[in-house]
Formats: sequence, structure tokens, C-alpha cells
Amino acid sequence: MRCFKFIFGGIAALALAFPLSSQAQTLDITSLINQTAPFSIAKYNRQIEGLWPQARAKGVSRSTFDRAFAGMTPDPSVLKKASKQPEFTTPPWHYINKRVSEKRIGNGLEKLGEYSALLDQIEARYGVDRYVVVAIWGMESSYGFILNDTSIVKPVIQSLSTLAFYSRSKRRKKFGRRQLLAALQILEARDTTPERMLGSWAGAMGHTQFIPTTYLAYAVDFDGDGRRDIWDNVADALGSTAHYLKKSGWQTGQTWGYEVKLPRGFNYGLTGRKNSRTLREWQKLGLARVSAKTFPRPSDKAWLVTMAGARGPAFLMLRNFRSILRYNNANSYALAVGHLADRLRGGDPFVQPWPEGDRLLGKDRRKDLQKLLRARGYNISAIDGKIGPKTRKAIRAFQSQVGLVPDGFATKALLDRLRQSS
Ligand code: CA
Repeated sequence: MRCFKFIFGGIAALALAFPLSSQAQTLDITSLINQTAPFSIAKYNRQIEGLWPQARAKGVSRSTFDRAFAGMTPDPSVLKKASKQPEFTTPPWHYINKRVSEKRIGNGLEKLGEYSALLDQIEARYGVDRYVVVAIWGMESSYGFILNDTSIVKPVIQSLSTLAFYSRSKRRKKFGRRQLLAALQILEARDTTPERMLGSWAGAMGHTQFIPTTYLAYAVDFDGDGRRDIWDNVADALGSTAHYLKKSGWQTGQTWGYEVKLPRGFNYGLTGRKNSRTLREWQKLGLARVSAKTFPRPSDKAWLVTMAGARGPAFLMLRNFRSILRYNNANSYALAVGHLADRLRGGDPFVQPWPEGDRLLGKDRRKDLQKLLRARGYNISAIDGKIGPKTRKAIRAFQSQVGLVPDGFATKALLDRLRQSS
């Protein structure tokens, strides 16, 4: 797909591939006017024409260009979706539990059976584990189920031209333009038609939700019929996903990571990729797999992820976790993929429970937290609502001072505690 880190980054990106509610299909001029005033179809057409020199430079023919935009109008529902970031404060455990549901596991097992011969071939060609490929398919499009839902999938040229010409954010405009040009190149190659080129409102397309630039770089014609068809051909879609993971450094025969238990008094300052060290070193620090099995390759480097502080599960992440992050750069997404793959393989649920009752802070509350920490003399460089290494360090210091486990995890309970003691 995707590489949404270019545009929105982080957990916000997770919402993009899964537009949840249907939007009116008719052109809502009012909401367009709210974005850029006044809306005019003549202006839209001029913007399309303004794109032509760049499209031509990329090898797009005039006939492909004209056919792609024939009778086109912008889609205001795309702008509504773009301005919403609903998963911003959704706890990672809600996201993961919802995505790795019993239903999705059951459907995935069916697909593993149905496509077993194809998955043999994909494993043989790319060395990427079938369970991970099928898990990504399940995460991205519920194994293709969403693709026939016209309330979710939209014409890609329409969505991307709307983003390119009407987004308020410069970054999103630039994204829309770049992806739109790539989409035109795909049409020029006759891999699909404008009618079949459907995707999410942000242009993520087909069974495994590639954005157009990712498609151009990584999609493959796995069944060899001359077209790279990730919309209507499961072999091409799953082959493309395996190819992308392979190109992102997938290590054949290895897992993404391990759920681990942390020792008492553990220093939570050691989380994050910057603190990568070998599994042997982690073992010396007292970490162990929850299954009590040993680490098969103790010299592999791993980094520690705790998405719910000391009261939730902890994980050591390996090289393959980074490959999944290339698909969508959010820990919750990559962990859900890894976990769904494990469940499809017959693995168990996580051993340590998530802190279901904890509430996470929205951006304004995170700023409040930073202000309170700064007022108490902790080193907070910017009140930006981002819980980065410095803020986490300050949280840990405060937690130590008041006798809490210093895990650096920002919750509503922690904010309340700071307010009470200020
Ligand atoms: Ca094909």
C-alpha cells in the first residue's frame, strides 16, 4: 500500500484504509465551499488541465488522461474523511482486539485453505510466510470483503483529485497530486480501467490496499497474465504484498517478535528502537518469553515495545516487525498483523492482559500534562501534545517521585494525579 508515514503518520494513519461509515454520493457543494470558496466546476476542470504537463512528462497519453477525468466531479466526502482522525486516542488494545477478532481469524483460516496452492507458490518465490501475507489481507480489506462495498470503496482518480485540489493541508495536497499522477500511470499501463480502479478515500487500492506509488514500485503480475491486477485478482494482490515485504527486508523463516515478561524494577527508559540490543543482552537484563521458551537466535537484535505501560503486555520486536511497519508505520497496526498471523498459525492470545480500564489522553489533555510537568520543574522542551522521549522521561521522574511504577505511560489517571498534586 501505503507508506502513510509520508502523510499523516502514526496511529492516525490506521483509520485511512478503513473508512467506516458511508457518505452521501451526491456532490455536496456546501461542504466543498467550506474547504475552498467558491466552488466552481470550471475551476476544477482548470486544475485538471493544469496537471496535464506533469502527467504527459510521466508518459501518460492524452487519451488515457481524458478518459480518466471524463465527466469527473470532486467528492466532498473525501474531504470529510480527511479532516477526521478518529483513532487518534483509541487505545491500542481496542484497535488490536477489534482487528484480530475471532471472525477475522475464522475467515483467515478458510482463506488459507482455499488459497493453499497459491500461498505455496508465493512462499516459494518470495520466502514470506503465508500467515503474514493472509493477515495483511485480512487487516487491509477483510480478505477482499470490503471491495464490493460501494460505501467504502470509491473511484481513485476522483478521491485523489479531490485531495490534490481541495485539501486544506499542503502535505495532503502534495500527497494527492503525487498519487494522482501515479494512478494515471497505472491506467496508462492498462493494468486496470478507471471504473475498476477503486480504493479508500485516501487512494489505498485493492485487496491489500496499495497506494498508487507503492503499486508502481512493488505490485507484481503473479499469475503472469500480463496485468498487475490487485483489484480483482487475488494471486496478483497477495503476490504483490509478499514482494513488498520481501523488498522491505523480510527475513525468511523468522518471526516478527515475542511477547515478553519484564523483571521487577525494570527501567522503562530502555523501550524504543534506539535502545535495540541483542536478545542475549535482553535476557541478561531479566526479560524472558512468556511461553518460557528460549530465544532461538539470541544474537538477533530486538527493541522493546510497551504500548500500555507496566500494566499491559510487553514485546521484543525483530527485523520482520520493521518490514510490517513499512506497510503502515504504526506499532498497533504491525502488532495486529503479527498477532493475527500467529493466531492463524494456531498460536495463542497474548498472555498478559491489556489495562482495559485505562483511558488515554487526547491532544489537548496531553498538552495539559506537559504544562503540569513543566510547572513542576521537569524538562519539557515544547508543549506540543506529543509524548516523545523527553516527556516520557519527565513522566517517569514524576511517577518515581510519587511512588508509582515509572513506566512513562500517559493516562487520564496520571493526569488526574498530577492535577491533584499540583
Ligand atoms: Ca496478473
